[in-house]
Amino acid sequence: MVTDPHIPLVYHRLVFCPKCGKRMDVMNGTFACVSGEMPLSPHLHSNLCELFVSRSRNAHSVPLNWGGSWFCPGRGRAATTGHKHVQCEACGVYLDEFLHALVELHPHRVPDGKGWI
Ligand SMILES: [Zn+2]
Ligand SMILES: [Zn+2]
Repeated sequence: MVTDPHIPLVYHRLVFCPKCGKRMDVMNGTFACVSGEMPLSPHLHSNLCELFVSRSRNAHSVPLNWGGSWFCPGRGRAATTGHKHVQCEACGVYLDEFLHALVELHPHRVPDGKGWI
């Protein structure tokens, strides 16, 4: 990556895929899970950056009861899916606000490549 001194370096923290827990790369200016073929939308990218890269705000906890299996973008470890919230117990971050965009707008290849989650 070419470093432009005028652009604040916001990729110095690793961000992990919320769907598979692998480290995300930056493609075309947004984070992408390469093996899952899942680039983030600019909106989701900037939200994840606020929480896990620049740490400029705290996550919104929204009681949703979406269920599912998720990973903490900050650490890549499995998040806890409870009755109303999805939360990383290690960092205390709620992932609730991302779930809708992830489910509706971000298909992700399953490991055998035969479907999408
Ligand atoms: Zn992934
Ligand atoms: Zn975490």
